[in-house]
Amino acid sequence: MGRIIFWLVIAFGVLLALRLLNVANAGSRRDATTGRASRSRGRDRAMVRCVGCGVFVPRADAIDAPRGPTCGDARCLRLGQRDAA
Ligand SMILES: [Zn+2]
Repeated sequence: MGRIIFWLVIAFGVLLALRLLNVANAGSRRDATTGRASRSRGRDRAMVRCVGCGVFVPRADAIDAPRGPTCGDARCLRLGQRDAA
């Protein structure tokens, strides 16, 4: 009986160690991805003004129209196209 409990404790110890390793790996992986994401987005963090409605949107999310950047709303896209044509 004592041997069974001993091996159960060993098995749980190994599982716990693996779990801790996984958590540590996931944490470092998450740091790496967020670091990369924020670095690549840093260039596009500037805000631009929508030519349609005047709302400020991040440069990366803005959609370029002939008149200037738009927020992506259908109405604003139409306004962005209208005067250029
Ligand atoms: Zn807009």
